[in-house]
Amino acid sequence: MKISSDHPVKIAIIGAGNVGATFAYALLGSGLASQIVLIDNNKERAEGEAMDLNHAVPLTHSTRIWAGDYSDCAGAAITVITAGTAQRPGETRLDLSQRNFAILKSVIEQIVKYNPEGLLLIASNPLDVLCYAAMKLSGLPASRVIGSGTILDTARFRYLLSQHAGVDPRSVHAFIIGEHGDSEVPVWSSANIAGMALADYCQMNCEEYNSEIYDKIFEQTRDAAYQIIERKGATFYGIGMGLVRICEAILRGQHTVLSVSTLIHDYYDIDDVYLSLPCIIDREGVSKFLRLPLNEKEKDGLQKSAKVLKETIHSLGL
Ligand code: NAD
Repeated sequence: MKISSDHPVKIAIIGAGNVGATFAYALLGSGLASQIVLIDNNKERAEGEAMDLNHAVPLTHSTRIWAGDYSDCAGAAITVITAGTAQRPGETRLDLSQRNFAILKSVIEQIVKYNPEGLLLIASNPLDVLCYAAMKLSGLPASRVIGSGTILDTARFRYLLSQHAGVDPRSVHAFIIGEHGDSEVPVWSSANIAGMALADYCQMNCEEYNSEIYDKIFEQTRDAAYQIIERKGATFYGIGMGLVRICEAILRGQHTVLSVSTLIHDYYDIDDVYLSLPCIIDREGVSKFLRLPLNEKEKDGLQKSAKVLKETIHSLGL
């Protein structure tokens, strides 16, 4: 459905596990939605989360929250998919592809039945592969099938760089692109603070400055999920907030640049695959991806990332 200010904004969340429930909580706090429906094949889990969330309503924003079924997707401005199994310690995101593809198939069929013109925002892994599958299965235009992509990886990267540089993470401008996963790529060539190239800024302002530190910052970014899963079993706060940020950009038509997963065509010989690049997001979804100029190393990295994703997509028969 087209988003207009006359209608109450309904957000449907498929999967009320760690990510779905955390997103619902952050969404409630944002005041962006007037209706939040939680749908999970574990109905009791969805009911429990809805009950718990409702007890926060008197303290935040007037919002109707309930555990529903797929017919409740009708009229949702955005349907957010978080259903699926999560990584166990040691598992990669791509290891989840067969299991979560089967779940996605059943979920998309139901969503599209009740909300054929909706907008899908996907968080389940393997993210980019499932986004491509969702676009094919739903028949929706690619602009309306969006993956949270590297919004989380980019946030992790900015946070770690900010710790090194001693500035607010919001003043660090740097992107992680490609797969939301092991083959992701840091774009060092355009990373900046206050318009100063990161290298120049750090040479003048950081106590230590060498390539080993930067390699370590990227490794910590890429491997953050493994580190967190080893310690607490799952990651959900960063992605919960990332999903709210994407919803805000859509619902308010902000034309914000965020690194999300979208269908790429004709970019450094990469075609017909979902991966993350900085994208402009407005009321219709992804209005375009930005053709970042990359250096040779970044370009090679992105092409490798696209290859890994294409192989997984083909292994699913898509
Ligand atoms: P979880 O196990 O806590 O929750 C998953 C929920 O999905 C469960 O409640 C389960 O009952 C439900 N579910 C399973 N099959 C379903 C179906 N057919 N229909 C409806 N609901 C169904 O897992 P989680 O930690 O919330 O992770 C969910 C997904 O998000 C995983 O794939 C995980 O890898 C991914 N994830 C993505 C990011 C990101 O940055 N995109 C970050 C963290 C986790």
